[in-house]
Amino acid sequence: MQLGWIGTGVMGAAIVKNLMAAGHTLTVYNRTKSKTDALVAQGATWAETPAAVAAASDVVFTMVGFPKDVEQVYFGEQGIFSQLAAGKTVIDMTTSQPKLAVKIAAYAQKHGIQALDAPVSGGDIGAQKATLTVMVGGDEATYTAMLPLFQILGHKVNYFGAAGTGQHAKMANQIMIAGTMTGLTEMLLYTEAAGLDPEKVLATLSSGGADNWSMENYVPRILKADYTPGFFARHFLKDLRIALTEADAMGLDLVATAQAKRLYEVMVDVKGLGSQGTQGLINSYR
Ligand code: NAP
Repeated sequence: MQLGWIGTGVMGAAIVKNLMAAGHTLTVYNRTKSKTDALVAQGATWAETPAAVAAASDVVFTMVGFPKDVEQVYFGEQGIFSQLAAGKTVIDMTTSQPKLAVKIAAYAQKHGIQALDAPVSGGDIGAQKATLTVMVGGDEATYTAMLPLFQILGHKVNYFGAAGTGQHAKMANQIMIAGTMTGLTEMLLYTEAAGLDPEKVLATLSSGGADNWSMENYVPRILKADYTPGFFARHFLKDLRIALTEADAMGLDLVATAQAKRLYEVMVDVKGLGSQGTQGLINSYR
């Protein structure tokens, strides 16, 4: 089976490495070509456009940044759908809008193509270690056929239902993360102000009821003043905006998530720190 991959950033490059290590051959494309150099050196084949990836592949994965990027790589002039033949499969792993997943699936179905939305959680480390959690929506038979590929890149793969439900599950994940990121930030500010040893507080909280993945993974980075992404703050703000738009459409008023979005808006839009990792929220308070 020939695989194609579009979007070789923090997540995509690490996942492609794992797919190649499992014995798959890949055709890759990224907006900035240099981000595919290391993968090509390890055996991947570069293609000039998303359309060229589609022509060379049976299954095309996408993991780009924002919904507008997803629109472009699928529906653009040199997009996947300009070349993808019937019988092939597309899998969007970008965290994106549920309605865009539905639009891709509808187009695909009309043209005899299979489509899944399959966003992930587990961060850059999860991508490198192949321990991602994968949340899948779309046709169930296609999910079953693609499961062996998902199992290469993640250790937990869950199917949720029709197109868009993978993205909804990811929004549930991001609503949860809004709480853990704001919590760990304010916990550290409080720890500092109280004159406590932050390493000792982290070790204590990690073994008690306050333990959570964000704290375990991001607090050590903050304590080393490491604000590199990880997970770009601008992408998290994108996710909070999608989640709140969806919640609004459901008649939900998620006040704590809305407050987290405002905090990340200050970090990204006002202070210009969107290229830091999400742990850089603390710099927005300081
Ligand atoms: P990233 O490092 O910015 O990677 C995205 C890549 O997609 C970039 O290399 C970018 O190219 C490329 N791209 C964007 N638009 C494109 C287009 N139109 N055509 C071709 N390539 C395009 O971000 P990431 O951290 O890998 O995240 C990717 C997605 O996964 C995001 O939606 C994010 O929210 C989600 N996600 C991230 C994490 C995480 O911890 N990092 C975890 C779960 C989910 P350039 O190099 O030119 O910018």
